[in-house]
Amino acid sequence: MLAVVIRAHGGPEVLHIESLPTPEAAAGEVRVDVSHVGLNHLDVWVRRGVAGHDFHLPRVPGSDVAGAVDGQRVALHPSWGCGSCAACVAGLHNHCRQFRIRGESADGGAAEVLVVPQTHVLPVPHFLTNAQAAALPLALLTAWHMLHRRAEIRRGERVLVQAGASGVGVMAIQVALLAGCEVHATASSPEKRQLIESLGARAWAYESIGVREVDVVVESVGKDTWASSLRALRWGGRLVCCGATTGAEVPLNLRALFFKQISLLGSTMGTAADMLAAWEAVVAGAIRPILFAEGSLTRLGEAHDLLESRAVIGKVVCEQDLARA
Ligand SMILES: [Zn+2]
Repeated sequence: MLAVVIRAHGGPEVLHIESLPTPEAAAGEVRVDVSHVGLNHLDVWVRRGVAGHDFHLPRVPGSDVAGAVDGQRVALHPSWGCGSCAACVAGLHNHCRQFRIRGESADGGAAEVLVVPQTHVLPVPHFLTNAQAAALPLALLTAWHMLHRRAEIRRGERVLVQAGASGVGVMAIQVALLAGCEVHATASSPEKRQLIESLGARAWAYESIGVREVDVVVESVGKDTWASSLRALRWGGRLVCCGATTGAEVPLNLRALFFKQISLLGSTMGTAADMLAAWEAVVAGAIRPILFAEGSLTRLGEAHDLLESRAVIGKVVCEQDLARA
């Protein structure tokens, strides 16, 4: 089978199409004929490399996958634990020391065929295309875990989502609205703010956030929005962070932290139970994917360029067309 393989970190030119042995499904596993792969910022980190982190190259990228198992349309859980350690048995798969993310610490879906445990399969409802389904799992799981498990949002709370038009942002807005929260979000352009308003949230430019006394701030931007995130929080508010796209080193005034009694919460991916709960909302039609552009795996580098341009509103998804290479 053909697959995209990263053998060394670098620019989009390190995304090579190679012929690999076609994997065979063992007991308890299924063969997925991949049709679409959704991109995340994680794909860019895996390709570029991160100082001090070993991605164990070579690696087939691609965390978000849609395809078919015996003709049935499926999407896939993007992450899993070992299943047998104390964290996994407690249902905290993302605390497992052997936690794996597809396309990051295990081979991903940028291939013609993928073999996965039967338990990783999520059914795609009839009203979603495979491209739309591939836009959902990782960002939705991340948003769901941040808001429900870490920040423990409650009906009527006020939530501010920084970078509301990002992949995680559009999911966080929808998850918070679905939970009955009042949702505000920031974005850099009128087009992005229009999308945010269309989802049912109030949109703000970064430099003129007009909401205060927020119960929960959703952070994935890091350095550039840190000060405004802390300023927006009410006394006793919670800031939940799943990323740092503009930089991970931020100033922290401990007097503000203890005086305002702020909780700072870190969050990575989520548990299998979170994915199943979030996917129920997808099947019910309560969470919708926001597709920005559809590219192809034979031109995956171009899709990476687009993702890095920050012009993206929602998700970039690639069609699996490797046979054309
Ligand atoms: Zn485990």
